[in-house]
Amino acid sequence: MNPITEATKPKIAVIGAGWAGLAAASELSNRGCRVTLFESSHTPGGRARQVFDPALGMIDNGQHLLLGAYQETLRLMARDVPKSVWEKAFTRLPLRLSSTDGQFRMSAPDFGPLWLKQALTLWLAKGFTLKDKWLATQLLRHLKSANGVDGDEQTVTRWLKQHRQSERLIAFLWEPLCLATLNTDIDQASAWLFQRIIFDALLSQLDNATDLLVPALDLTGLWPEHVCPKVSTQFGHTVRAVTPLEKGVRVDDQVFEGCVIAIPAHGVTRLFDQSNQQSDPHLFDVLGGFEYRPITTCYVALDAPFGLEEPLLMMRHGHGSSASTAPGQWVFDRNRCQPLSATENGRLAFVISDSQAVLSMPQQDLALSLMSQLTGELGRHTPIGIVASRSFHEKRATFAATPHQLRPRNALAWQGIVLAGDWTDTGYPSVLEGAVRSGISATDCLLAQLGKTNR
Ligand SMILES: Cc1cc2nc3c(=O)[nH]c(=O)nc-3n(C[C@H](O)[C@H](O)[C@H](O)COP(=O)(O)OP(=O)(O)OC[C@H]3O[C@@H](n4cnc5c(N)ncnc54)[C@H](O)[C@@H]3O)c2cc1C
Repeated sequence: MNPITEATKPKIAVIGAGWAGLAAASELSNRGCRVTLFESSHTPGGRARQVFDPALGMIDNGQHLLLGAYQETLRLMARDVPKSVWEKAFTRLPLRLSSTDGQFRMSAPDFGPLWLKQALTLWLAKGFTLKDKWLATQLLRHLKSANGVDGDEQTVTRWLKQHRQSERLIAFLWEPLCLATLNTDIDQASAWLFQRIIFDALLSQLDNATDLLVPALDLTGLWPEHVCPKVSTQFGHTVRAVTPLEKGVRVDDQVFEGCVIAIPAHGVTRLFDQSNQQSDPHLFDVLGGFEYRPITTCYVALDAPFGLEEPLLMMRHGHGSSASTAPGQWVFDRNRCQPLSATENGRLAFVISDSQAVLSMPQQDLALSLMSQLTGELGRHTPIGIVASRSFHEKRATFAATPHQLRPRNALAWQGIVLAGDWTDTGYPSVLEGAVRSGISATDCLLAQLGKTNR
């Protein structure tokens, strides 16, 4: 293999400036390639990006939460983001989950070695019986000894039942965690993907892996906008065609030595003409086989700070027909999460995963319903005025993380063209860490194919 020198710098196209495409662009440029980044929209970040709202100012298309276990995402951010930005990028919270109605509280103690913190987190939790704690501890011990993959692939509910988890453990702990990380109902969600998240976040040997990292800046300012200056960008350019050549690849009418396709799975097939699709029919079947789940974020500005007792709290959301009267699952106090841009107004963000039940609710009704749910659960009776609200329904927020979902690898039938995206076979559900890992492994794969090696 040939090392990369100035004279041999490969010219690479990256299509899509979501977190996967940006990870690939950052890595490729760091490893000596000349990168052109194509993006349909005018803002980098894809499904995790900033949006300007006339009434609410700069917000995100959806409230995000990262984990201390997101090692690759944090590594790239620390490398690409100026130190002054990096230092204020997150509000870092040691693992602390509490419910609005005060019935449940779990927090990692801030003393002792990691193993002790992990052991005590459950045993000191409020809201579980001793038997619950014993059963949950047994499940975690089992998962640890199985090295993160326990048994056959099945649904999360079946796996939890197999380990005799009580209704209360499921309702307060496992179901909220499953919905928040897999965006898929526990009756349908993949046990293996859930186990991977629990293993990395709750059982990791890395210090701070359990920390919750709430972005303190808007999502584009957090990292995406710091990658773009490293490469040549073409915003507002929707790529229509990718054509494998005998040597290299044509992206619309420009020729490159290699290409990373980092757009959503449902858009990839359209990039290839019929004859190329026929050369790998299995891949195109797999790409068409994803189902998607929505996430709704409702931002609310209030006439005074709300002062939640924690920066984020779990809500007691309803199921079935009560899902529209108690739709909220999580609430974030944006004044506490983003202290640098705190205002005299209260700013809350409500998050609803797998939010099919509220998609058709009028914006204002949703905001009112969420506020009434919140004040009811907190037992607060002082009236609070809503100044403005805005809901984002991201209909294809994530793929449905169901058992046996086929996911393609980075490599394709053609040398020099690779795939990246949270939907590739990363072992993670549809989360930022999966997207970033995919971008990095796509880079490794592409440079190996092109015979370029240096890191
Ligand atoms: C509301 C919401 C909340 C979420 N919450 C969390 C969370 O709390 N924690 C977490 O870790 N993850 C969360 N996620 C998931 C996370 O945002 C995604 O996993 C991640 O952003 C996916 O990145 P990606 O690069 O794979 O894809 P995308 O972000 O979809 O990027 C693809 C990019 O390609 C561009 N594109 C498409 N077609 C073309 C074309 N033909 N030519 C050029 N460009 C094109 C698109 O405009 C887009 O910018 C959330 C997602 C949503 C929507």
